[in-house]
Amino acid sequence: MIATLPKLAINCDRLDRSLAELATIGKLPNGGVCRLAFSEEDIQARQLIKTWMLEAGMSVRSDAVGNIIGTYAGTESGTAALATGSHIDTVPVGGRFDGCLGVLAGIEVAKVFQESQIRLRHPFEVIVFSDEENSVIGCKAIAGNAPTDPERYRRKDGTSIQDCLKNVGGDWDQLHTAKRDQHQIAAFIELHVEQGGVLEALDKQIGVVTGIVGQYRFMVTIIGRPNHAGTTPMNMRKDALVAASQLVLAINRLGVETKGEQVATVGHMTVSPNATNVVPARVDMSIDLRDLSEENLQYLIAQIEKECEAIAESTGTEFTIEQKLHVLPTPAKPELMEAIAKVCEELKLSYDYLPSRAGHDAQEIGRFTDMGMIFVPSLNGISHSQDEYTSPEQCAQGANVLLHTLLAIDKTL
Ligand SMILES: [Zn+2]
Repeated sequence: MIATLPKLAINCDRLDRSLAELATIGKLPNGGVCRLAFSEEDIQARQLIKTWMLEAGMSVRSDAVGNIIGTYAGTESGTAALATGSHIDTVPVGGRFDGCLGVLAGIEVAKVFQESQIRLRHPFEVIVFSDEENSVIGCKAIAGNAPTDPERYRRKDGTSIQDCLKNVGGDWDQLHTAKRDQHQIAAFIELHVEQGGVLEALDKQIGVVTGIVGQYRFMVTIIGRPNHAGTTPMNMRKDALVAASQLVLAINRLGVETKGEQVATVGHMTVSPNATNVVPARVDMSIDLRDLSEENLQYLIAQIEKECEAIAESTGTEFTIEQKLHVLPTPAKPELMEAIAKVCEELKLSYDYLPSRAGHDAQEIGRFTDMGMIFVPSLNGISHSQDEYTSPEQCAQGANVLLHTLLAIDKTL
């Protein structure tokens, strides 16, 4: 057997230690982490990240929206950066891995470059995006898509976005200066825990993300006719809840039977007057549709509209549908997916392709430059919980795929 050269690899123990140390900031008694964006804990964690970036030989700056950008210089001046990164803020009861893995794996990659005296042609950036879990202002500002009404960002405790940004070295009045373009970032690759159970069910080590799904949300109002539940014969009713129930089943059927990878959900419903002895007068219900294909989403919407018409006709009710949200899908760049898959093969890691049905910073960055994402499995598919877990080996596998994908695209881009 011919001995092959050992592949460059990240330091698994060091990555694990940094994940553990970051998780002490905002540590909850139940083992979870609470590190809300712009909080004292967030500010403390940002300080730690900056220290680690400097130790990894990166120059560090913050932009107007408080994104931390660590840059490991490349050999060719004036070249656009290859970037990675994620977020270190959490939901109120979050885990240790969501977002943090992407940031710390990026810094770990820089440390490997530093130790091995490797310089890419491109500058290599690790970006820590501000407030991914709530307003998503960090990545949106970089994409130039951040809403400019400050009231939209007011925190639950009343703190203004102006004060939030000031606390992390940002400046609301200079928000526009955070915007970047493809001449500055040539490609962005985010490593993240899957936050779902697909990889585990497939028994795969790595997920090559095909894109981040688009989403539509609607509120449907169904108006029937309230009447006495005892005295109103069945054939004389206009029952809003019967109509709503038919629509719930139709939406589920479309979700199951339509060719594609869509998910379709009715998750919210209110019934009026919601009384045992009254034929329901009114139902308000939500529809949530997600898919990687905007075309398929449009098809589903057209089908749902048809269903509404038919159900209204047969039940004697009136439907109004109001669109509440529309987010366009962000497909991953095929060349980056290929590069990630090829690295998995070289590293002998099993992989499969899957869309991300959760939002990520890459969703916004992918609107102006080439985007790719690497997933590692989440134990039992759990995330946004103290029970979130991805093993040190799995984290290291993801980080190694990130490392070698960056090395590969540095040559080709
Ligand atoms: Zn995340």
